[in-house]
Amino acid sequence: MVYILFGPPGSGKGTQAKTLQEDLKIPQLSTGDMLREAIKAGTDLGKKAKSFMDAGDLVPDEVMVGLIEERLKAPDCASGCLLDGFPRTVPQAEALETMLAKAEKPISRVVSFQVDEEELVSRLSGRVVCGDCGASFHEQSRPPKELGQCDYCGAANLKKREDDKPEVVRNRLQAFAQQTAPVEEFYKEKGLLSQIDATGDFDDIYGRLRGAMGK
Ligand code: AMP
Repeated sequence: MVYILFGPPGSGKGTQAKTLQEDLKIPQLSTGDMLREAIKAGTDLGKKAKSFMDAGDLVPDEVMVGLIEERLKAPDCASGCLLDGFPRTVPQAEALETMLAKAEKPISRVVSFQVDEEELVSRLSGRVVCGDCGASFHEQSRPPKELGQCDYCGAANLKKREDDKPEVVRNRLQAFAQQTAPVEEFYKEKGLLSQIDATGDFDDIYGRLRGAMGK
């Protein structure tokens, strides 16, 4: 069970993956979360990635491929995983294909989250995330139950992401259009792609996602 949740920044794939990983009992592998943890821990990886992330650019392929290759070997990935934020370029998709073929773990489905650009900008500009567990909220449309406090882990550590600033958001959306969008065509040609409407209610989107996954 290897599923790829594909979509632009702000399309909600990370939020859906957090619920999905509990229901399917397979881990969410979010490369964005992995990089943010590396930055927090001050590792070499974090130092390499920080300037790219702050600018809204993609981290180089060789760094990302090495990171995911190691992570896929961990025992908790034995019965599968949910890839969230990887692959983001065609060379990453090709490298993933080689890794999974070696491990005899085929991709079950790639689900592409469809949201128009205006809505993405509004979602990202109002987003607040929990600095402890990574859960994500929106100041207007999905506020936490208690002001400033995470609904999931209870930490009073909600903040805006540095790369959700308007000028960085523009660059992230451009990187998506130029470097990441072709990955969708890559999987479409292989007959692995399903597109879902990722707007509206969380539960409705979750239902569409499970339907597309055949789960
Ligand atoms: P995300 O949390 O998925 O929006 O990722 C935040 C940032 O991490 C991106 O804007 C990129 O700078 C970097 N990043 C995450 N995943 C990848 C990837 N697969 N390839 C390149 N850069 C990535």
